[in-house]
Amino acid sequence: MQPTNLDHHRIRARRADFACDGEVRYAPVKSLWFSGMAAAALVGGYFFFRWDALALFVVSTACVLLFGHSLGSHRQLIHHSFQCPGWLRRTLIYCGVLVGLAGPLGILRQHELRDYAQRLPICHDYLRHGRSFWTDAWWQLHCDLHLTHPPRIQLEPLVANDRFLHWLEKTWMLQQLPVAMLFYLWGGWAFVFWGVCARVTAGVLGHWLIGWFAHNRGAMNYEVRGAAVQGRNIPWTSLLTMGESWHNNHHAFPGSARLGLAPGEWDPGWWMLMLLERCGLVWDLRLPESLPPRPELVKARSMVR
Ligand SMILES: [Zn+2]
Ligand SMILES: [Zn+2]
Repeated sequence: MQPTNLDHHRIRARRADFACDGEVRYAPVKSLWFSGMAAAALVGGYFFFRWDALALFVVSTACVLLFGHSLGSHRQLIHHSFQCPGWLRRTLIYCGVLVGLAGPLGILRQHELRDYAQRLPICHDYLRHGRSFWTDAWWQLHCDLHLTHPPRIQLEPLVANDRFLHWLEKTWMLQQLPVAMLFYLWGGWAFVFWGVCARVTAGVLGHWLIGWFAHNRGAMNYEVRGAAVQGRNIPWTSLLTMGESWHNNHHAFPGSARLGLAPGEWDPGWWMLMLLERCGLVWDLRLPESLPPRPELVKARSMVR
């Protein structure tokens, strides 16, 4: 059964099986970026430990995850799940770049491919986090998937014509430098190791970790029938991930600005959006009930493995 709602995707594939054939290859730049940050965080973080540096790590990580990754990259750039002024959109996306995962267009392309592939009946294990924990860690943190028949990803004019986004795409690694300089002037090397290296390490590692669990373990409220993999909700990381770990809900309603849907499903990203809406800074927040119906979506009996 071919899932519906794929028409609005940015993926333009010539073959139905494009998401299956591919090779996972070592990606030197990605691997060195993560390994270098992790090594610097471990060694520098140990020798330059200070409590105020640890506090900076906690606050700066929370800020880039909330405003950058969750609101800027995911709920705005990728899903357009709310509207806001251009300056705020760019500020949020810039914060998303500071997480250190990739450039804005790289993030968008990766997400688009995964999102599309996971809705197909079968897709490559790389795209569905389908291998063991350690194999997936190696793949996602150090390798890239090279599809034999890669699809075209068609970007909408709002994204394709934004020169700021293209500039960020070319310079996303360098964007840590101004932050590092600011932190160095403010608190010396301790602030650089904790506020940049440890923050980037936690962001990249956490993104993979949540990605693995959110496709392998945890409860389901909904089932997308015929999909290669189901999203899972991970309640205990809801605050840490700013609500992003309600991934089963996200598979069910990808265009919703709200991820924690049931009572008790804490969603800090949604709380922030409601606050910004009250200030008049965001509007047109999309919710599950305003999205087109999906016949393949059914209520699931909660399953925990
Ligand atoms: Zn997913
Ligand atoms: Zn998404």
